[in-house]
Amino acid sequence: MSFVYEKKGGFLRDVKEKGAGLIFIISAPSGTGKTTLIKRVMERVPGLRFSVSYTTRLPRSNENEGEDYHFVSHSTFQRMVERDEFLEWAEVLGNRYGTPRPDFKKLELEEVDLILDIDTQGAKKIMNEPFEPVSIYFLPPSWKVLRERLINRGDSLEMIKYRLSTARKDMEEAHGYPYVLVNDNIEEAIEKLGCIIVAERCRRLKSYTIKENRKQWEEKDG
Ligand code: 5GP
Repeated sequence: MSFVYEKKGGFLRDVKEKGAGLIFIISAPSGTGKTTLIKRVMERVPGLRFSVSYTTRLPRSNENEGEDYHFVSHSTFQRMVERDEFLEWAEVLGNRYGTPRPDFKKLELEEVDLILDIDTQGAKKIMNEPFEPVSIYFLPPSWKVLRERLINRGDSLEMIKYRLSTARKDMEEAHGYPYVLVNDNIEEAIEKLGCIIVAERCRRLKSYTIKENRKQWEEKDG
């Protein structure tokens, strides 16, 4: 692995600056503020890249092709499924969403971590994969706040009701996530998310460093 370098006789790596090819899954019921959280943490913690999913849903007025999603037709999506081009895909609120397969070697080489904004179905499918993704679930502060956020977003009453009922089912899946955070105060939530990312980078680094040190000790001891 290339992400550790030796300096002053020890192993060092600035985990605040660089990623290590890790995958971070972030899930939350819609209206929790997940998109803002992801954008803000990416501004704050270097070495993060957003995985742009493919979707059959139409773009919202503030969304850009290739930035928020790759917006594709049902037939294109189906072709991609058949060619096994997705790491995972799921149907959410009547539309299909899929994560393109990441190039893990390239991520590691470029020293970046990937952020996946995916729902609980998708997360479940890949949570136990050998690349050991780190999954984080965000809860809204309360039902009242979630309802207000959905209203302010301009969703129709029918859609709000639908999103609230699916949110209830979705939240039951939170127990499967090792990290659960509440997006009560946005600044605090970003801070905590950043801490988790840095901590996970340290954790991976730890096992590597121990292995490297052991190798050196063994070599020294003959
Ligand atoms: P929205 O339409 O509001 O952007 O997203 C609806 C839901 O789809 C969100 O919960 C979001 O996390 C999820 N989603 C977005 N991209 C993907 C993906 O590639 N795979 C899965 N499984 N879910 C996704």
